[in-house]
Amino acid sequence: MDVVVVGAGLSGLIAARNLTRTGHRVTVLDKGRAVGGRMATRRVGDARLDHGAQFFTVRTPEFADEVAAWIELGLVHEWCRGFGPEGDGYPRYAARNGMTALAKHLADGLEVRCNSLVFAVRPGDGCWDVGLDDATSVRADALVVTCPLPQAFSVLVSSGVELPKDLRETEYDRTLSILVALDRPSAIPFPGGVQNPDDVFGFIADNVSKGVSEQPAVTFHANAAWSEAHWDDDPAVSTAALLERAQPWLGSAQVLEVSPKRWRFATPRTIWPERCWVHLDGAAPLVVAGDAFAGPRVEGAVLSGLAAAASLASPV
Ligand SMILES: Cc1cc2nc3c(=O)[nH]c(=O)nc-3n(C[C@H](O)[C@H](O)[C@H](O)COP(=O)(O)OP(=O)(O)OC[C@H]3O[C@@H](n4cnc5c(N)ncnc54)[C@H](O)[C@@H]3O)c2cc1C
Repeated sequence: MDVVVVGAGLSGLIAARNLTRTGHRVTVLDKGRAVGGRMATRRVGDARLDHGAQFFTVRTPEFADEVAAWIELGLVHEWCRGFGPEGDGYPRYAARNGMTALAKHLADGLEVRCNSLVFAVRPGDGCWDVGLDDATSVRADALVVTCPLPQAFSVLVSSGVELPKDLRETEYDRTLSILVALDRPSAIPFPGGVQNPDDVFGFIADNVSKGVSEQPAVTFHANAAWSEAHWDDDPAVSTAALLERAQPWLGSAQVLEVSPKRWRFATPRTIWPERCWVHLDGAAPLVVAGDAFAGPRVEGAVLSGLAAAASLASPV
């Protein structure tokens, strides 16, 4: 089959990889400039910072197999065993050159078209007609949609397929963040990550401790409540407020550069009970997948991508 996967985040890339392995011709379309979605790494000055997902845990054998392969390839390493002086004994993994490097690795060898916003999916004759915002379209014998559910819903509005109400109404927490490049090491204690330290931040990560940046650089993620309350503030005002609250974690370091970042669809608030949603009664098979299906985290995205591929996998 010619399969189109919408979204080059982890779930889309994993689905595309496995569908390719079973003999399908797969095209991945993503509106972003690069692959990775919420597995995002950015440069600020000379520093490199993870901007979305910061680390991941492993809870299932399927994901453990993927992670073991990534460790073997040197893409991923165990960052620590919990945050705080004693930790909790459970491994937290980070990608050596930033989370985007992992996505790039998965995209290697796949046909991935970035800067390709899927605008509308329409039923064709035994296929889907996947329309892009440049007025071109791609024909698909099967379609896998992996964007956050509100975006999936708008892409599918003209498909004739009605998503279940609970999927349509899934809400997402937002995240406001700042990426800060410093002139010397931060004051963040070992292991370089702090979870829920106060009423503002949800997570703080030292990108040097994670092995992502040589130049001192810290990612500050505001928690969901703070992000929601300040979402409509002038970005200069929310950035200044976050930077002020960040000061104790910077110690004597001077700020070289600050870059604010916003995630509108950071974390799904509810999770669908199955690992993907499969619809076989439309013009052609349709699978909706992503972290809203198997858990609001890196592992959930991977498990959902694996399930999406398996649901279409009979070899051709
Ligand atoms: C700030 C933040 C911190 C996080 N921290 C952690 C963490 O520490 N640990 C952890 O395990 N998880 C964390 N997560 C969650 C983790 O990043 C996600 O669960 C996972 O990356 C989701 O992958 P996905 O493939 O389901 O979706 P995404 O990565 O969102 O991929 C969807 C893709 O679809 C594309 N897209 C959307 N609409 C269209 C369209 N119309 N046309 C074409 N393309 C489209 C997007 O550009 C995107 O690339 C964090 C997330 C955020 C935002």
